[in-house]
Amino acid sequence: MRVYISADMEGVAGVWAWEQVETRGGGEYTRYQRLMTAEVNTVIHGALQAGATAVCINDAHGGMRNLLVENLHPGAQLITGTPKKLGMMEGIDRGFTAACFLGYHARAGSAGILAHTYSDVVHCLQVNGQEMGELGLNALLAGYFGVPVVMVSGDQVLAGEARKLLGEIEVVIVKEALNYHAARSLSPRQVRAKLLQGIARALERKNLKPLSAPAPATVTIEFNDPARAAAAAILPRSRRLNAVTIAYTGDDYLEAYQAMRSLIALAKSS
Ligand code: ZN
Repeated sequence: MRVYISADMEGVAGVWAWEQVETRGGGEYTRYQRLMTAEVNTVIHGALQAGATAVCINDAHGGMRNLLVENLHPGAQLITGTPKKLGMMEGIDRGFTAACFLGYHARAGSAGILAHTYSDVVHCLQVNGQEMGELGLNALLAGYFGVPVVMVSGDQVLAGEARKLLGEIEVVIVKEALNYHAARSLSPRQVRAKLLQGIARALERKNLKPLSAPAPATVTIEFNDPARAAAAAILPRSRRLNAVTIAYTGDDYLEAYQAMRSLIALAKSS
């Protein structure tokens, strides 16, 4: 049994401010690097206890260099650094039994803590007409590789997204979003206990199915302003639907996912 973990940072217990998850945050950021690493290590430990033969972690936040390798559980391997072709899902392949998304946050435009979708240039994003955040986009990519997402952690808004999209998977709510910049959080110690119970239950289940990734797949991105959309429209085969909205249809979901990342990168460059 091989277990894949994509680890983001905004959904770690206690986080509510950007400076806590950005390198320029200095000491605040360093505190949360340790807390993020501890949450990830807990899930690695639980997965190995449940019989995992290999655990692969992909650092999936910002510059993707947040997890402290010197503190990493010795039973796992870490994918770190950027750029990576599959970004938050680098390393996923057909050989994994299950995927976990830890420290995730809710999608752009929702009421979650630090809610966004990849970048603040994105107002909202859809796949084949269905609104998606990072959770949905990455769960579909896991599905493309035949891997079910069995556990997620984050705030209660992210939990709602997960239940709607993924049904009865293990959802560990680490904090309640009071608004974009305020949380009622559990203690890190309590969160680690919940993660340990969650991963044990998640890996016991045999009936979880991967999401089925659509083919063809159309990603539609509404950007925050026309200049961003104009820059994204440079991508060949993209279509500009209006001043701020770009669509791209991939023959399969993998192509659409990579186009989505390319469109956002172009938009950010403008
Ligand atoms: Zn992040």
